[in-house]
Amino acid sequence: MQIQADASKCQGYGNCVDLDPDHFDLDDDGLVVVLKSAVAPSEQETAGAAVRSCPVAAVWLVDHEA
Ligand code: SF4
Repeated sequence: MQIQADASKCQGYGNCVDLDPDHFDLDDDGLVVVLKSAVAPSEQETAGAAVRSCPVAAVWLVDHEA
């Protein structure tokens, strides 16, 4: 799985960062930054919870492209 983000939708709530700081951070403007887009199988639960926590759906998971 991979994380994708649309920082233009981000409202800077920080839920994703709180739940999965290995993958998400906020930049100086308080908008989401994906630190690492690749999600290992062992990380899927945490990354999924972070994605679901976003109230504006600014981050989401996609399957790896072949
Ligand atoms: S949870 Fe959503 S709105 Fe909040 S910082 Fe993360 S991407 Fe932005």
